[in-house]
Amino acid sequence: MAKLPILRWPDPRLAMPCAPAVLSDDLAQLAADMLDTTYAAQGRGLAAPQVGALIRLFVMDCTWKTGTPAPMVCVNPDILWRADTTATGPEGCLSIPGIITQVPRATAIRLRWTTLDGQTVEQDMTGFAAICAQHELDHLDGLLTLDRLDPPARARALAEYAA
Ligand code: ZN
Repeated sequence: MAKLPILRWPDPRLAMPCAPAVLSDDLAQLAADMLDTTYAAQGRGLAAPQVGALIRLFVMDCTWKTGTPAPMVCVNPDILWRADTTATGPEGCLSIPGIITQVPRATAIRLRWTTLDGQTVEQDMTGFAAICAQHELDHLDGLLTLDRLDPPARARALAEYAA
C-alpha cells in the first residue's frame, strides 16, 4: 500500500505525451500504488503522468464506490473504435481538484490494452466506463478535461480553479 502524490494542473508534466510502457515488476508496483492512490483520493481513475511517470499506463475502477470493486490496469491502451454519437456530461479530475466540467465524449468505444501479465485484451465499453477510459487515455496524450472545452467554458473553469 502506497499513496503517491498527485500532480496538479498546471504542472507541465500533465501536458506531455507519454512513452510506451514496458512490463516489469516496477510497472506492476506502480500500478498497484496508483490504484491505492485512486481509492484514497476517492477517484475512479488515474493515469501514470498524474503521478509523474510519463508512460502509457492508467488504472480505473468505475464501480468500487457502489461496493463492487473492479480494478483495471491498462498498459499501452488504444481506442480502436469510437461511436459517432457523443454525449456531454460532468467530469472531475484528481489533477484539477474541486472543478467539474462538462466534457463531450463518444458514447461507446472499443479499448485494447495489455494486462500486467502480458495478455492483449479488447473490450467494448459504454456509459461511465467509456467516459472514464477516454478521460484517462487523454492524460497519456497530455490532454486534460480543460483542453476539451470551448474557450469560454475553459475560461470559466480556470477562474473557478484559481478562486
Ligand atoms: Zn484526470
